[in-house]
Amino acid sequence: MSVVEKLPGQWATVGDRLRQRGLRWTPQRRTVIEVLAETDGHVAAAELVARCRSRNPSTIPSTVYRTLNVLEDLGLIRHGHGADGREEFHVLPEREHGHLHCTECGSTWEIDESGADEIARAFRGVDGFEIDIGHVTVVGRCRECASAV
Ligand SMILES: [Zn+2]
Ligand SMILES: [Zn+2]
Ligand SMILES: [Zn+2]
Repeated sequence: MSVVEKLPGQWATVGDRLRQRGLRWTPQRRTVIEVLAETDGHVAAAELVARCRSRNPSTIPSTVYRTLNVLEDLGLIRHGHGADGREEFHVLPEREHGHLHCTECGSTWEIDESGADEIARAFRGVDGFEIDIGHVTVVGRCRECASAV
């Protein structure tokens, strides 16, 4: 048996959990986990593939995507979508937050937990609808762009 260096925190048992889902625990998958464990905030899938490749050139994108799907099923990560609809991954646990994108200046912002709560309350009040604010990016114009007419 080879000596396996322990992965941090919630990732410590991920090899076993992936195996239970029928995925082999390979160096490629380990690279995906290492990159995710070092990720702060969110990361686009393509960026994740690039980071894995720079660490392990034999990384195959489809393996990364398949691993990400299973990790999301296991509740270790969660996906959202950028302004262009591309998937971005959040490493859990994470504070609930929303995403804003200004189509004029191209800036993006996060709506913090209290702002996200307020928006969720507003939706609940309209039709009892529970929104999943972290899943989407709301597109519009920021205060500066909107006032500079
Ligand atoms: Zn986010
Ligand atoms: Zn989605
Ligand atoms: Zn703007």
